[in-house]
Amino acid sequence: MLKFVQKVWLRGRDLFPVAGFHFDRPLVLFESDDWGRVGLRDQAGLEQLRTAGLALGERPYDFYTLETTEDLAALRTVLKRHRDASGRHPCIEMNFILANLDFAKMSAAAFRQIYLLTLAEGLPEGWSRAGLIETYREGIAEGVFRPALHGTTHFNRLAVERALAGEDDRADLLRTLWRAGTPYIHWRMPWIGYEYWDPEKPEDERFLSEEAQRELIGQAVGAFAKLFSSLPRSACAPGYRANDDTYRAWAQHGIRVVQSGPEAPVPPYFDRHGVLHLTRTVEFEPAVNAAFSVEACLRQGERCFEDGVPAIVSVHSVNFHSTVRDFRSPTLRSLDGFLTALEAKYPDLLYLHDEDLYELVTKGAYRTTSGDARNDSVRTHVTTKNFTRAGLARRQKT
Ligand SMILES: [Zn+2]
Repeated sequence: MLKFVQKVWLRGRDLFPVAGFHFDRPLVLFESDDWGRVGLRDQAGLEQLRTAGLALGERPYDFYTLETTEDLAALRTVLKRHRDASGRHPCIEMNFILANLDFAKMSAAAFRQIYLLTLAEGLPEGWSRAGLIETYREGIAEGVFRPALHGTTHFNRLAVERALAGEDDRADLLRTLWRAGTPYIHWRMPWIGYEYWDPEKPEDERFLSEEAQRELIGQAVGAFAKLFSSLPRSACAPGYRANDDTYRAWAQHGIRVVQSGPEAPVPPYFDRHGVLHLTRTVEFEPAVNAAFSVEACLRQGERCFEDGVPAIVSVHSVNFHSTVRDFRSPTLRSLDGFLTALEAKYPDLLYLHDEDLYELVTKGAYRTTSGDARNDSVRTHVTTKNFTRAGLARRQKT
């Protein structure tokens, strides 16, 4: 019965008009996933896995490692080179995974069980990143980074536990990776799912229950607060797998902005839980997209401004990694070019983060670094126009 209600609600949602927010100035936001989540344990991990028989290098995500303090410093340098019409630097909304696997504990238990280690407690055995947490915090203090919530783990814990209990090829692959200090490589094992979504359950049972999601989100918010001494206000579900239960649980934990995956321009809108939904509209992913070009990203941004919606740029953390494959240098060159071109073409553009946009639509203005909530330079006219998801989908086809 409940599922029937949810289906009707989903269909109704597509036809029901929603008030979308539009702006009379070009607004640019950056949303970035997977910070704090370890992958390949740098060169040593790569060699160990190759020795174990994994043919790494087939896809860019085989070289996903973990950001270093140098990666973050290089990113900060580029961001601080740029300013918007109000004098503000661009800001990256960084969605954090708040825990990694505790490989030492898991090894002691013959890799039969999952144990987590929060980022606030440190990195797993075998990993070394001196000063990483301090460097995130410095970027946050400078206003070029903004921490937000991704999850506690990126994978679905039940799905991984089921694979372990199965004691077959899947369990072997997990243990091979874990022995090398790598939690998983998603494209090689999509059956691990995403935190709130278990891919091998029947279609309408894939999302965890409302209670289970609420508990996981509560844990993630607690781990976030320990790490950053603040509460997250914006969230993006791992794999973008979120449903109405996720939105409700986020709202109950103080989340005001929900980020969703790349689509054609959708104006920001509020849902029934009072959460502002932002849809990414520009895909800036040079490390993983062979067809990437700065020009294509500029065109995507232009289309947003023509529609009066913010250009919300998606750029995953892998683009800034450098220890096994130098993704960072080409990304930063392209990012510098992208920002330079935007600033030249749109002298009145404003760089915001998610919470600024929330303030802008609820109060008509947002605080700048000078602390002036009514600074004329950031005055932006906000209008609302009703739209339906069905209408947007039709428009995208024509
Ligand atoms: Zn992610």
